[in-house]
Amino acid sequence: MRTIKEIHYLVYPSEESNTIVDRFLSSTIDNKIAYHNEEELHSIINELQINNIESKDVIILKPFLGRFYQACPGSPKMICCRYRVINTCFNCLYNCSYCYMHVYLNSFGIVQFTNVERLFAELHDFIKNCSRSMIYRIGTGEFTDSLMFDEITGIGSELIQFFSKYNNIFFELKTKSSNVDHLLDIPSKGNAVIAWSLNTPHNIAYYEHDTAKLDERIHAAVKAIDAGYYAAFHFDPIILYQGWEDDYYNVIKLLQEKIDPSKVVWISMGGFRYHLHFREILRNKFPQEMISVYEMFPGIDGKYRYFKPLRIQMYNFMYQKLHEIFKKAYIYLCMEADYMWKEITGRNFHSSEELEQDISNHLLHSFTQKNTIFY
Ligand code: SF4
Repeated sequence: MRTIKEIHYLVYPSEESNTIVDRFLSSTIDNKIAYHNEEELHSIINELQINNIESKDVIILKPFLGRFYQACPGSPKMICCRYRVINTCFNCLYNCSYCYMHVYLNSFGIVQFTNVERLFAELHDFIKNCSRSMIYRIGTGEFTDSLMFDEITGIGSELIQFFSKYNNIFFELKTKSSNVDHLLDIPSKGNAVIAWSLNTPHNIAYYEHDTAKLDERIHAAVKAIDAGYYAAFHFDPIILYQGWEDDYYNVIKLLQEKIDPSKVVWISMGGFRYHLHFREILRNKFPQEMISVYEMFPGIDGKYRYFKPLRIQMYNFMYQKLHEIFKKAYIYLCMEADYMWKEITGRNFHSSEELEQDISNHLLHSFTQKNTIFY
């Protein structure tokens, strides 16, 4: 697994002093380059690019000007879970072939946002206005990996403690790392969830470059559960190849062997999918890749997916096996249409709001104390 020790450049704002900047400045990164303004930052980036420094070899610290917190936009015409997303960083230490971040061709560096105090102001606003009878799922890791260098930023720990006061919020950190040790001793964990994106050893080796191996992720999940966290797993993307059924089944059996199912709050499943323009980027970047050679077909949201009967076979297989073991967890599909939900789970959702409410009800009844009074 790649770590921050393999990063060689840190570009930081010379006039901004806050905890995140200070923590990175005391890290072991060899080359620390200060900038005074946007213009200077651009010329530093130019210089690094001219010298063929890899984008993922550079951390750029800068304030974020957009919204930190928002509802996941989902995919048009699909049943989505209306997950709430917190953006704390853009880009990633790891290098998954299928990562959607590859479409941002012009972005350079791993951009770590420094002004997280504004994030907490946004979260206070959300909490003031949210429904007290609804359970919300909120998480980081949409445009990055939540834990790749979280021991330096300290953001995971701050957010866990912040959300621990609100018992109608399940806060999730999503990762392909095994980097949990810095979170184990936090005293107030509330409903915090540490989640692992899982795949077969074959897919991890071929497509999830620089991430933790399967057994390392599961070992980290065991440590997190032992320390008092909930766990979640994301089989996303499920990538098909000859022998996929046996390999995915072995991953599920490994989970059965190692993980306490009563602590698993949700499991998602999503088949590999892409926009057509992404396929060209993928083939240019990873000429040896084999994921885009499978025959795929455009769906109603314009994304290409495996042929429908094959997706049904794939989801049915995974759903049945997972459901046998993880009876308490909410098992859901990611970015699939209502007919697929009906086919796989027998549930008839007409809108994303219905699914969100169903997940909320499930978490309320399965994972919160009876008669809980929300803060
Ligand atoms: S871990 Fe996630 S964000 Fe990082 S490269 Fe892989 S898919 Fe992209």
